[in-house]
Amino acid sequence: MAVLKANAYGHGLRHIAKHLDDQNLAFFGVANVREARMLAEEGIKTPIYLLSPTFPDEREEVVRRSWVPCLSSFEEINHFASIVRSSNVGLGSSGGSPNRQMLAHLTLDTGMGRGGFLPGQVNEALHLLTQTPEIKLGGVGSHLPSADEDPTFTLQQFRLFDDLVTGARDLLPADALFHLSNSAGLLDYQSSTTNLVRPGLALYGTSPLPEWQQELQPVMTLKSRIALVRKLPAGHGVSYGRSSILERDTTVATTGIGYGDGLPRSISGKGAYFLVNGEPAPLLGRVTMDQIMLDVTELPSCHPGDEVEIFGSSHPIGHLAGWADTIPWEILTRITPRVSRVYR
Ligand SMILES: *Cc1c(COP(=O)(O)O)cnc(C)c1O
Repeated sequence: MAVLKANAYGHGLRHIAKHLDDQNLAFFGVANVREARMLAEEGIKTPIYLLSPTFPDEREEVVRRSWVPCLSSFEEINHFASIVRSSNVGLGSSGGSPNRQMLAHLTLDTGMGRGGFLPGQVNEALHLLTQTPEIKLGGVGSHLPSADEDPTFTLQQFRLFDDLVTGARDLLPADALFHLSNSAGLLDYQSSTTNLVRPGLALYGTSPLPEWQQELQPVMTLKSRIALVRKLPAGHGVSYGRSSILERDTTVATTGIGYGDGLPRSISGKGAYFLVNGEPAPLLGRVTMDQIMLDVTELPSCHPGDEVEIFGSSHPIGHLAGWADTIPWEILTRITPRVSRVYR
């Protein structure tokens, strides 16, 4: 399953979906019905899986469009079944077209605490499904809260998932899909039952575990360009709040990116730098909405129009995430629509 939620992690849902549609993937994973609709409008053929729960008023559309929801509650099972039943009224009864079934997966809460049946409810949920002909069980999934932080807990979670699935085999279809791993889970863990993985971040070339980064190639490079190169004297202030007062005569490059593009303002004063012609240029003062100022005193050959790499294959996004005290997922998904996406 290719996870394409949140505008394909900021990369552009339509482009990424079209690019992957002929790759014979089990699913495109999206967060919600709105994202599923965008894929449907593009005529995407890959089946659509809804990673988050649906609202009651969205479920009729989910059934009608054959999107695959993940079920976390008895209420969802019963409600979806009743929607399928009412859509079947008038069908099948007179020997015409057969009654429709919907496909759904069951979510287990093995530690994430966000959705899913608890381990003690799994058998009851599966028994209910065996008595619910309107819903065909396509698979069972669960989610990892700390595969990139806590291997001991994650190993226990894998064992719990394998045990639950193995223990319930009699209640599960032979062709069911079993899935647990996000990017971190598929990089470093093994399971005796899973046959599907759900990478998001790794799909876009960033590893949640730094030791695997050399295996991956970042899909996105975020670039800006220098608009002005100016000499400012020692003692001059730079940017809002004058948090930076120049200690020496400084060549300052004013560069066309700011928090209005998704560059976090919180990196101000954290030792951040970006690459100008491959060389590091330190950030001076605060990030403004549309511009930042870089110290290019050591880079005499830098000129207006030169490219600045904010992150990419030469400047890992993990640096920027660290200065902003956040994670690469948040940096990618917060790049605003003002930034043009160029596809190569
Ligand atoms: C977002 C998400 C993923 C992908 O996670 P990554 O860490 O980006 O690989 C997988 N599964 C579920 C349920 C998710 O919500």
